[in-house]
Amino acid sequence: MSIRKTTRKFKAEVNELLDLIINSLYSNKEIFLRELVSNSSDALDKLKFKAQTEPELLEGDTADFGITLRADPAARTLEVSDNGIGMTFDEVVENIGTIAKSGTALFTEALAALKEKKTSAPELIGQFGVGFYSAFMVADKITIVTRAAGHATAVKWESTGDGSYTIEEAQRPQRGTTVTVHLKEKGEGDKDYCDEWTLRDIVKRHSDFVSYPIMMEVTRRAPVPGGDGKEAPEKYEEKTVTDVLNSMKALWARPKAEISDDEYKEFYKHVSHDWTDPLSWLHVKLEGTTEFDALLYIPQKRPHDLFRPNAHHGVSLYSKRIFIMSDCKELLPPYLRFLHGVVDSSDLSLNVSREILQEDRVVQGIRKALVRRVLDHIAELPEEKFLAFYAEFGAVLKEGVHSDHQNRDRIAKMLRYRTSKSGGELVTLDKYVENMAEGQEHIYYLTGESIPSLSGSPHLEVLRKKGIEVLLMTDPIDEFVTESLGEYSGKAFRSAEKGDLDIAGEEEPEKEKEYSGLVDFLKKTLGDKVKGVRPSHRLADSASCLCAEEQEMSALMVKMLKATGQGFPEAKRTLEVNLGHPLLAGLKSVYEREPESPRLAGYAQLLYELALVSEGTKMENPSDFAKRVGELAAEALKRQ
Ligand code: ADP
Repeated sequence: MSIRKTTRKFKAEVNELLDLIINSLYSNKEIFLRELVSNSSDALDKLKFKAQTEPELLEGDTADFGITLRADPAARTLEVSDNGIGMTFDEVVENIGTIAKSGTALFTEALAALKEKKTSAPELIGQFGVGFYSAFMVADKITIVTRAAGHATAVKWESTGDGSYTIEEAQRPQRGTTVTVHLKEKGEGDKDYCDEWTLRDIVKRHSDFVSYPIMMEVTRRAPVPGGDGKEAPEKYEEKTVTDVLNSMKALWARPKAEISDDEYKEFYKHVSHDWTDPLSWLHVKLEGTTEFDALLYIPQKRPHDLFRPNAHHGVSLYSKRIFIMSDCKELLPPYLRFLHGVVDSSDLSLNVSREILQEDRVVQGIRKALVRRVLDHIAELPEEKFLAFYAEFGAVLKEGVHSDHQNRDRIAKMLRYRTSKSGGELVTLDKYVENMAEGQEHIYYLTGESIPSLSGSPHLEVLRKKGIEVLLMTDPIDEFVTESLGEYSGKAFRSAEKGDLDIAGEEEPEKEKEYSGLVDFLKKTLGDKVKGVRPSHRLADSASCLCAEEQEMSALMVKMLKATGQGFPEAKRTLEVNLGHPLLAGLKSVYEREPESPRLAGYAQLLYELALVSEGTKMENPSDFAKRVGELAAEALKRQ
């Protein structure tokens, strides 16, 4: 059954993106060609990799892999054609009609940020990979004809970028994709993208190192030779010539000294589809037992899918400059998945499958050496760059503390946290240890959702009074970091919200005895809600707080687990009360005077609820709490 031509609407966010692109938020229009060429190059990579195990995909067509540009100045069209993997009908709809399958909501957020000028168009395009649409900067219509390798029918897609596209079945003798850009009227200052020399120049600057030939087919009018050569020729004929425009030189294989920063940056944009410059790069040439070249880049911004289960890994594997596979997860551990680039080893066979790679000794050797180099590179970044890196990728790097035992200490040295004393600045663990108070034996930390909520936490009160610094941790992974490390520089990590903080000098046995009746009463009244009630050694200003036992989960962890929707046994916590607080003193005297007073139960409940509010835990019944506070306040005022 053939599919008739249908018109479909772009998803709303695609329209917004197109609007932005067409109204030219981005001034460097010529890079549309780099994007189309990079897409073709990826499509060739994909076919090459798949054909290793499914040679029938080549359909006996052993023509060289390549990309062809055809410009027609009369029709004002430019064609970018490849004999790569092509796309099926569904793939065209999926890849070209929508944006960032997995990140639509994030994309909408990013678009809003863009409108408020909090981010730039190139940054947004880099994070979401929407390079194809950039062709609408120069086109008033784009036609795609594509046939997926191994499929009989082709697909034709067409759009003027005005909210909808048409899609229908078509024919294409050869597998692959042809994108025809119907160029807009040339405006003032615009380049002529039909002009042979303009195209040559653009390819040279942006796509020279593409590892497939980028050919240009040009039709020239040439005089037909004849006569004696003296007279003006009477006849002309059209001759099509093909020229390869790029040098195909593998950038990573060249000596570092010969490569300019601009070349490094262009290569990054080609491999990453990012439109902004990389934050940093490292070019490794290793000789010895493990021999390889690697060129790896750290982006400026994290991609939208960094924390999704099947996040893209950006490193491609080559052997002796011949492409083997992209997205090679075996070359780097998952916690370095933000890197983009290329690894080229001459010790690998060309026919390696992903399964073989996992076991391969050469690959394991490369991975080990690369991780060391990358970690050193990050540790040595200039301060400003390091902070930019840490803000975007710190949370991913921390996964390494948990998963990479060999490099745990190396990563731990790079960790930085805000603290209860640092005034918003990030502090290394070394610095923390250096600043430890006299007699302080532990590294104190507190985990939570945000710095403001942590800084105001009652769990910090006594620690703060005693001048003890506390690390404030807000990444979910931090819970695992402290657990995996256990200690740093011989000092054990200690959560400020767990166990009985027995900081010397806080015990007041006499007072505790005086209050024991009230404490027992509170425990009885709160019953199942808490594990127990005890006098606190960590509170100074607040009346109460909730604490977990040393080995139990923190409030943040419980909250995170609840958010996953999986049931888990709820661990009860201990309510700590501040015997120095006037609320407790008042309660004690009511309790001693009229132990049967119905007001006491309300106050017990209030102490519990205040503890929940102060740590930001959702109450089951907030309106009850609000009512109670209202009544108590009214009562207090009456007495004045
Ligand atoms: P990106 O390439 O950054 O993912 P694009 O918008 O440029 O974003 O392309 C979207 C997707 O469309 C690509 O990821 C790829 O799957 C598909 N695609 C684009 N061009 C081609 C092509 N020439 N051949 C095969 N697939 C292509």
